[in-house]
Amino acid sequence: MSAVKPAPVEDQGAAPGSEEKPIHILWINAGLSCDGDSVALTAAMQPSIEEIALAGLPGLPRIAVHWPLIDFECGPVGGADTFIEWFFKGERGEIDPFVLVVEGSIPNEAIKQEGYWCGFGDDPETGQPITTSEWIDRLAPKALAVVAIGTCATYGGIHAMAGNPTGAMGVPDYLGWDWKSQAGIPIVCVPGCPIQPDNFAETLTYLLYQAAGSAPMIPLDDKLRPTWLFGATVHEGCDRAGYYEQGEFASTYDSPKCLVKLGCWGPVVKCNVPKRGWINGVGGCPNVGGICIACTMPGFPDKFMPFMDEPPGARVSVSASGVYGSVIRRLRSMTARTVDKEPKWRHTGERVTTGYRPPW
Ligand code: SF4
Ligand code: SF4
Repeated sequence: MSAVKPAPVEDQGAAPGSEEKPIHILWINAGLSCDGDSVALTAAMQPSIEEIALAGLPGLPRIAVHWPLIDFECGPVGGADTFIEWFFKGERGEIDPFVLVVEGSIPNEAIKQEGYWCGFGDDPETGQPITTSEWIDRLAPKALAVVAIGTCATYGGIHAMAGNPTGAMGVPDYLGWDWKSQAGIPIVCVPGCPIQPDNFAETLTYLLYQAAGSAPMIPLDDKLRPTWLFGATVHEGCDRAGYYEQGEFASTYDSPKCLVKLGCWGPVVKCNVPKRGWINGVGGCPNVGGICIACTMPGFPDKFMPFMDEPPGARVSVSASGVYGSVIRRLRSMTARTVDKEPKWRHTGERVTTGYRPPW
């Protein structure tokens, strides 16, 4: 991917010949995370980062992206070409409107009196780091919308496992599940470890169209996920679901059959990856041999561990499907033999045996 350079500071007001101001994207990737969501997003195709950042889609408003992964502005606080200044501008209300994107889980700074868990830039007054949670406190009330990207930011993810020392949590746990932006938009959660690239690109695009007045309020479920992306289970979109129904299960990873006995959680996990693929329609965990470990779910990872064990309930449903499937397989093989033959009236010779009756 070619890097997308945000427009220079002086260009970020009204576009030449118009009053249109850009919508700024302030991206904080300084939660507890591996930056995997930023990296995954570089593979987005529907639409691509370039199409979003350069407003290359009809009706998409102009945006100015302040995203550490690709930003050319990397100067120190208070210096020329300073990246962090955009976040201060957001706090001062100088770049209204802006969308705040949070990547990574939010540690509980209240339990770390002697220091801090994670931060983003320094406070020019004190020279001390500004914690990530402080940035959220400063910016969320001014944001048009707050978007949590990845399972760490949405629900806490791996950092929020039982026994963790940081008290990590997702953005809705931090701000409150009923929180709404000044525009009345709830926190928008796009889970995944990492996100499926197009799921995030599409959600961001939706919000930008909403901001432009050309889309209604983004539809979210009770876990704040876009409903059109997370309404179905992995199992419902899986390439291997036909094998499940026929009671045919893999015992090794080189098999094309259903992976539930190897630990796949697909039947109860909300995720569209098997249907959508990973990059440009290709891939998608169970489609390509990987069990679903439920990385999009609020209970991830604790409620799905140990991975690679048969999920609870799987034994019962697998046994039932095994019995039902063996009958179905037998009936289907009879039907399959019949439909795999041409009808008998397709032949040479002088007799018509199609059942045709002349009307005279
Ligand atoms: S591999 Fe998983 S998601 Fe696919 S059919 Fe089997 S249980 Fe369902
Ligand atoms: S299929 Fe399962 S493991 Fe793969 S991305 Fe979706 S929830 Fe995560």
